[in-house]
Amino acid sequence: MSRKKIVAGNWKMNKSLQEAKALVEQITNQINDSIAIGIDEVTKIIIPPFPYLDAINTQILNKPNFNVGAQNCHTNAAGAFTGEVSASMLSSVGCKYVLVGHSERRQYFKEKDSDFVLKIKEALNNNIHPIFCIGETIDQRKTENHFKVITEQLTNVLKEFTVAEFSKFILAYEPVWAIGTGETATAAQAQEMHAFIRSIVTDLYDSKIANDVSILYGGSCNAQNAQELFSCPDVDGGLIGGASLKADDFCKIILSF
Ligand code: PEP
Repeated sequence: MSRKKIVAGNWKMNKSLQEAKALVEQITNQINDSIAIGIDEVTKIIIPPFPYLDAINTQILNKPNFNVGAQNCHTNAAGAFTGEVSASMLSSVGCKYVLVGHSERRQYFKEKDSDFVLKIKEALNNNIHPIFCIGETIDQRKTENHFKVITEQLTNVLKEFTVAEFSKFILAYEPVWAIGTGETATAAQAQEMHAFIRSIVTDLYDSKIANDVSILYGGSCNAQNAQELFSCPDVDGGLIGGASLKADDFCKIILSF
């Protein structure tokens, strides 16, 4: 089993450039102090707004196991798409990861499976790892459709990718009812769904690739609950929203394995 422990901070549409740089400075200093206890084995991904990617990538260049990721990329490689950002542009500023399928993109920007396939193809063409996000709404869970929804979200996209392509993926299970709500999935709920996701990946590919893929939990993961969530055998880390905007909280989460 070669899967990585990962903590990714999705800053969404928050912070000025000056605030962003100060936050990264605080995070890297605090983690630097912890490297002595082996914490550099955790892959740390900072996912700021587009305008800060280059500056933050420069800031973290020599920091062990720190990387930058983007919150989105376009479905096309280049062209007349005013206001959009391509995967090759992200690559040119040192971006190694990109979020695809986040519930806010699904809800507010009406993005769908076919968009995710194109975005992931663009990311892979540019050596960027997709962090593919899936998750059910509260209604879907209450009506006990959550396993069906997750199966569809995964299958509709993964069927377009080979094993070799999928080996570059990170998955993030983010129940929509837990994102930004302060309500977290219990460790038992997270473990149940992560194990289920691994079983779907086994069915679509094989057990080796399923064992190797990192599956992150996202949805009000914070400094208080990260340790319990990360102790679940199929939870390989977290995709963190609100708590990634505070250095102390984000560092505590990184130190929660
Ligand atoms: C997210 O949006 O990916 C997320 C997990 O947000 P929060 O941690 O704020 O729930």
